[in-house]
Amino acid sequence: MAGDAPAARKCSGSDCTNDAGQLQCPNCQKLGKESFFCSQDCFKRNWAEHKKAHKLQTTGQYNPFPAYPYTGSLRPVYPLSERRTVPASIKHPDYAKDGTPYSEQKFVGRHKIAVLNAKEIEGMRKVCRLAREVLDVAARVAKPGVTTDYIDEVVHKACLERNSYPSPLNYCRFPKSVCTSVNEVICHGIPDQRVLQDGDILNIDVTLYHGGFHGDLNETYYIGDKSLADPDSVRIVETARECLDKAIEIVKPGTLFREYGNVIEKHAKSQKCSVIKTYCGHGINQLFHCAPNVPHYAKNKAVGEAKPGMTFTIEPMISLGTHKDKTWPDDWTSVTADGTRTAQFEHTLLVTEDGVEVLTARLPDSPGGPVARIEPTNGQEVAVSG
Ligand SMILES: [Zn+2]
Ligand SMILES: [Zn+2]
Repeated sequence: MAGDAPAARKCSGSDCTNDAGQLQCPNCQKLGKESFFCSQDCFKRNWAEHKKAHKLQTTGQYNPFPAYPYTGSLRPVYPLSERRTVPASIKHPDYAKDGTPYSEQKFVGRHKIAVLNAKEIEGMRKVCRLAREVLDVAARVAKPGVTTDYIDEVVHKACLERNSYPSPLNYCRFPKSVCTSVNEVICHGIPDQRVLQDGDILNIDVTLYHGGFHGDLNETYYIGDKSLADPDSVRIVETARECLDKAIEIVKPGTLFREYGNVIEKHAKSQKCSVIKTYCGHGINQLFHCAPNVPHYAKNKAVGEAKPGMTFTIEPMISLGTHKDKTWPDDWTSVTADGTRTAQFEHTLLVTEDGVEVLTARLPDSPGGPVARIEPTNGQEVAVSG
């Protein structure tokens, strides 16, 4: 459905059928709830009944940005849990203390792409294998009824058990140990108190820092059976998965970094999906993010070509609707501008003498994996009751 006009909001007065105006209950606003009334009069008339709703709010949970024009139905559910800690015995990256990645900034503007030696490659193999294990642990607990904050706790503990620092924690002040991106969230979703619903799709983006190297991967998972029965959800998740697979097929020495976007966008378009342009794949090694920049859209102007010993990610973000993104006032959560669903997959890759090694490859028992597309019901709309 095209167009940006939000559906008309109804007045919260229990005896009122009018559309709501801009007038909001100030008590609800403080509680992070949205209740709009058609008029001051109606608000007053319904006050005795309406104020009961304030007392029902005993969970202490709230939407921190109640006046923000959200693009879809997802809302942040605060308070965030306390910041998790990492024992001093685990090696911390330079940004862990104050949030500034000093060593990355030294390299900003440099196009020189690191070529790793044999020992460094071993370090990358190790951390990427551990990162895969942690993603799989997280995916196994991602079910309806579980909060994304619980997934963060599971990821955090799984990192510590592997003598690893969860790279997102305090990177440019990101508050949590993993990114959890639900439905219309493109990337960088902050784990919070929202409970996963049957029918959600969830991207879990895990990065570990171990032995002086970062390993980065993500996958999108179907939450419950309803998402697996929704043709559009299956189309977006499977298309994103295939886009990454097709891009990896052309990784070898000599492939230009600008080529991947052509392969990805061609496939996305063939499935009537679009490619997010704002976020790119990246070099990764002793630094979390460095050269090269790897855009996922066609006709980009990325510099450089793959050479043996280089390590970088490809992580296409694909949307059912627009390619345009917006960022929530938390300064992290990126959502589609039209609120349509989006999916992403990511691997950390090593360029070899004759091709590529997928350092974060799935294990035989990894949860998730491809599913067959479902045909949308053609012709008439099917009415669903309940
Ligand atoms: Zn990632
Ligand atoms: Zn990444």
